[in-house]
Formats: sequence, structure tokens, C-alpha cells
Amino acid sequence: MAADPTTIFALASAPGRAGVAVVRVSGPRAGDALLTLAPDIEGLPPPRYATRAVLYAPESNIDAQSRERIDDALVLWIPGPASFTGEDVAEFHIHGGHAVLDSLLTSLGAMDGLVPAGPGEFSRRAFENGKMDLTAVEAIADLVDAETAAQRRQALAQMGGALARQYDDWRDRLVKSMAFAEASIDFAEEDIPDDLARQSIEALRALAGEIDLHLADDGIGERIRSGFRIALTGAPNVGKSSLLNALAKRDVAIVSEIAGTTRDVIEVPMDLGGYAATLIDTAGLRESADLIEQEGVRRARDQAASADLRLHLIEPGARDGLPAADDGTLVVMNKADLLARDAASPEGVLVISVRTGAGMADLIDRMTTHIRNLAAGRAAASAPLTRARHRAALEDCRAALRRAIGNAEAGMDEEMMAEDMRVAAQALGRITGRIDVEDLLDRIFRDFCIGK
Ligand code: GDP
Repeated sequence: MAADPTTIFALASAPGRAGVAVVRVSGPRAGDALLTLAPDIEGLPPPRYATRAVLYAPESNIDAQSRERIDDALVLWIPGPASFTGEDVAEFHIHGGHAVLDSLLTSLGAMDGLVPAGPGEFSRRAFENGKMDLTAVEAIADLVDAETAAQRRQALAQMGGALARQYDDWRDRLVKSMAFAEASIDFAEEDIPDDLARQSIEALRALAGEIDLHLADDGIGERIRSGFRIALTGAPNVGKSSLLNALAKRDVAIVSEIAGTTRDVIEVPMDLGGYAATLIDTAGLRESADLIEQEGVRRARDQAASADLRLHLIEPGARDGLPAADDGTLVVMNKADLLARDAASPEGVLVISVRTGAGMADLIDRMTTHIRNLAAGRAAASAPLTRARHRAALEDCRAALRRAIGNAEAGMDEEMMAEDMRVAAQALGRITGRIDVEDLLDRIFRDFCIGK
């Protein structure tokens, strides 16, 4: 952080008319800004207490008669370091009208040393001042974007440090092993008992095993964050678009009686029992001479193959060519209204009618249960990783760990082993933003009893 940071300000609530708008100011001049705008309160208000104050445009505040009111507001004074950014923070809770906001922002902008905040700048300062690690910063963004209960829960857990604790713990253990490895380079062999070196390899193996488990999570955390994928498959005209519309409760896909009209992949977000899901209507799976349609079919196959759940629709009364219903596919017979009343439904096939609504509640139940089971299998074990960024860093870490272990097994080249361990620790540090390994090594060596 620069020695004398600027003071930043921004509207913290959503833009547009609202009952209340919140303007946040952070930096060394936040207290001055508060005192200048609210001249009637005596000194800075007690920290973190809401205080009612009339705000005045500073340039008009020459005498009591001529001064121009901005608003009758609530103000908060949150001195650093016990604030979101770690700096002095002032908050103005004003009426959420355009003119009020405009007037306050103009007054703030006219003050010395105050500049409008850039995107994410409050969180960035919080990170730079050590208030939050990178996974917590990302979790704030996720929490703001959260549309479903599961997304909210996951973001809150991550914001509370569920992931950071895991990664910091791994990194600490790794750095401890590094300290042993480095010690056996720096000091004579006899100073480090053999079983210590062995213990340190054991520790690396255990760590690699835990990272393996964490990575083998089927991407559940990422799915909870960005939505489970559910593909609608089946021949043209079985009613995929109609089902999508019914599930989405609005007309998203074009329903038509001409086979092969849905050429694009259409995606609709939905909330399934608190989990975010994306329904994907794929173009009717059929061979076609039409190039555009062929492309649609190819994309449909890709989407269906990678989906978390497939709803495979079949014609009423279909008997042949049914795909085997496995864990990832629900076979659904649509247009039950066209079936004879006493028609027996085939084994394992869910019979619905989009037209009459028959079986729809059952279908939604089955979809919800499937997604909930997918999510529950993993979520309980440990905090799931939520971003490709974390996954990539963990894969780098694991690769370096494996090299270190391999080196150790092939004859204990401590120098190379230590270097790979350093790479592994740095990869872990990239996730939380704690990249300085030296400081940790210093700390560990300080109370490292080596008998010297
Ligand atoms: P897609 O090609 O699989 O997307 O099929 P569409 O959703 O375009 O539907 C094809 C036709 O089947 C349309 O005329 C729909 O109105 C009709 N359809 C869809 N669901 C039902 C149903 O439950 N019963 C009946 N009788 N017709 C349906």
C-alpha cells in the first residue's frame, strides 16, 4: 500500500431511485469529509453508531441562512483498522433520489484528496491491508451475485474463510516440510536425524493425498456457484421446447410443429430447491443435410454429454430405442394426453404431459433430488473449491509436490526437492494471495530447534 493513499468514494448501493442510498468513503480524509458535510454534529460521531445529521453543500456553508442542504441523513464513522477496508471509513445513508445523490457525489468530488473509487477498489484495499484474503474477496463478489440459497450459503462459508483456512493449513504444513528439507541442505547430515527426512516425505505424501481428494470433487463447488447443467434431449417434436417453457414459466424457446426448428442451444436459469441450475434445450437430435442444423446437433451432443443431468424425452407409446436410464439421465415420456387411458408406462420411464401438466410436479421433484444428491455427496466433506483459478493453482501445486516426492524417492536430491516444494507452496499462496514464502520460513526457522 502506498504511504499516503488517496481517499476514495462511491455509491455502495444499487443505482436508481430507492428509499435509501449508501455512499461509502474510505481513506485518510474520510473523517474530514464527514465533518465538512455534517457541520452541525460536534466532532466525529462515536465509532460504528448511526448518527442523524443534516448534510450541507460545503461551498454554501458560509452562514446558517445561505447554506444549501443536501439531505437529512444518517452517518456512520468507522475508523481504521477495524473497518471493511482497514482504513478510516465514513458512510452516508441518504435518501435514494437522483438529485440527492448527485449533490453529495459532487460535493465529495470537489474535496481535496478525494477521488471516485474504481471497480472493486474498496475490496482491493481490504485485501492490500490484510483484512481479507483473495478467496474472501471472490466470495463477496459471489455473494452479491448469488441468486439461490445454495449459492448464498457457499459464498458466505467462503467469505468466512472456509477455503482460506484449508489452503493456509496446507501451505503451513508444506513450508514446515520445506524447513526440514532446507535444513538438511544447510546443515550437516548428522544434525538432521534420518527419520525427520522420512517424516517430511510422509507429510508431503499425506498433503498430496488431501489435495487429490479436494480436486476430485466433480466440480461441485463450481457448479453450485455457476449452476448445474441440465440438458433436454430427444428427437425433434417430442416437446423439448414446450417443456423448457413450462419449466421456465415463460416463453423462451420457440415452439413449433415443424420438426427441427430449435437450432440453437437455448439456456434458461432456474432455481431447483435452492440450487442454481441451467436448463439447456438442444436442437432436435437427428441427422440432417442442413449445415446449420448439423452444427446444432453437434453442439447439442456436446452439451448433453457434459451435463449434470439429462432429461431424455420420448414420444408417447415409444417402446424401442430407449436409452438406458442411468444415474445421469431421466427418461421422460411426454404427451401422456395422447396415450390411451389404460396404457402401461414402460419400466423406469416418467410419464408427463406438458400440455395438461400431468406428472410435472413429479418431474421437478426428481430433478431436484438428483441435483441435491450431487451437491450433498461432496459439500459435507470439506469446503468445495469454487473457481477454475483455484483448480489451476492446486493442479500446479500437486504436480510440484509429486515431483518433490519422486525426487525424494529417487535418492533424496534435497536441492531439487526444496525447489519443487517452494513452487508448490507458491501455487497455494497464489490462491489466497499470500505469496511470501520467505516470511513463513523465517518464522519457522526462528523456533526451529536444530541443536545449534
Ligand atoms: P421439440 O422439437 O422437441 O422442441 O418440440 P416442441 O416443444 O416444439 O413441440 C412439438 C409439438 O408438440 C408442438 O406442437 C407442441 O405443442 C406439442 N406438444 C408438446 N407437449 C405436448 C403434450 O404434452 N401433449 C400434446 N398433445 N402435444 C404436445
